[in-house]
Parts: sequence; C-alpha cells; structure tokens
Amino acid sequence: MKKSPVLFLGHGSPMNIILENEYTASLVQLGRSLSRPNAILVVSAHWLTRGTYITTNKQPETIYDFYGFPQELYNVRYDCPGAVKQLEEAASIFENASVQYDGKRGLDHAAWSVLKHMYPNADIPVMAMSLDQQKTPQEHYKLAKKLAPLRELGILIIGSGNIVHNLRLIDWDMEAKAFDWAVRFDNTVKEHLETGNHQPLIEYKKLGKEALLSVPTSDHYLPFLYAAALQDTDDKLAFSYEGFQNASMSMRCLSFGV
Ligand code: ZN
Repeated sequence: MKKSPVLFLGHGSPMNIILENEYTASLVQLGRSLSRPNAILVVSAHWLTRGTYITTNKQPETIYDFYGFPQELYNVRYDCPGAVKQLEEAASIFENASVQYDGKRGLDHAAWSVLKHMYPNADIPVMAMSLDQQKTPQEHYKLAKKLAPLRELGILIIGSGNIVHNLRLIDWDMEAKAFDWAVRFDNTVKEHLETGNHQPLIEYKKLGKEALLSVPTSDHYLPFLYAAALQDTDDKLAFSYEGFQNASMSMRCLSFGV
C-alpha cells in the first residue's frame, strides 16, 4: 500500500461551511486530487483534553460547537461512519502513543467543516483526536511522530486549525486585509517549512512579537505541528491554499507526500 499523505488545513470561520470561495474550492480540488484513503484521522483544534483521546464512535454525531451563526450552518450534517476497522488495525500504534479511547464524542467543526468540502459524500470512516492541554509543543511534536505508522495503513492524517488565529483582533469582514504581523508570521512559518527547519516552529514562542500575536493560544497552531512532525524525509511539501480571512486568520493549507 502506498503511504498516505499528511495534511494541515486552515479551517477559520464556520461560515466557510456554507460558502463557496477560493478557499473552499481549494478543499474540493484537494479531495478530488488525493487517492481515496481507507480512513481519516483529524487532529482537532476544538477538542482540548487532559491526556490524548481518539473517537471510537461507530456513528459520530455532528457537533455544532459554534454560536451565533446563521441557522443554515446548523442544518448541515456530516453523517460519516466511524473508523471501527482501522481503530482495530491501529490499536498498537495508539497504545504506543498513549492515546486513549472516547466512545461518546462525535466530530466537531474542525473535522467536518473541511471534510464536507473535501469528501461531500461522507462515505469515508473518520476519527478525531484531541489535544492534550498539559503537553508542551515539543511533547506534541514527539507524540505526533509516533502516529507515523498510521500512514502505512492508508489513514489520511489531517491537522485542522490555523497557523495564524487571533480571535481578539478579528475583523468580521471575511475579506478584510490581513494584519502585517499576521502576514509576516505566516511567511516565517512557510520559510521554515521550505527549508525543513522544524525546531523554530516547535519553539514558535521565541519567534517574537508577531508569533505571540499570531498564536495567542496554542490550540489552533498545534494541529499544524502534528502535520509537520509527520513529514518524512522523502515527503514533498505543497501548499494547496495560501491566504487570509477576517484579517487575523491564515487559511494556509499544506500537504506532505502528495
Ligand atoms: Zn477553529
């Protein structure tokens, strides 16, 4: 079996669930361009826990973990199956990474808002993984590396968050011009990726004021570190989308090994 690629997808505002724009078109195109995975694992910016968990639900429900948006968003469902078979196949990999099981939780919008565009038929089994709030970025990076064998099982791993994500400074106009500091930090991340230099990305807090404005809390950035950690030496890097929404959100999407 060919090793599955690894993705990091910016998800941004839940409005993207129902919009057709350049960003959502890039997700549609990405879904069409990839070989069909056996299952999908989404590392979610919106599931923060003590310890690391993975969903084992056979029929994960669609979680509407956003508030004050148009009713149309709450009418969208993503009724994909859970990844029961793949969870069994991968049991030793999850055990090695000290990942625990959660049989109740469904899929939050970090997972289904992007999958709805990539795989609208919802016919590929999906599991979501949480972020352990007690871990340092370096520890998250180390844990992510232990998930690498999942790629050999045909499991598509997707980190879903945003490289730049500052809700406090958000502009409600989605088309608003991005802040200069946001553009600079997003570019710094891109440059380190292009040279394969991951250590400054792990120690992003040392990257100055722009980093602190871009990553005021780590939840949306960490899923990106999971994807970076899973890059193999022979994996080509590609950017399927570059751009900003709401002035303070980088919608950058990237892949390794496509
Ligand atoms: Zn989010």
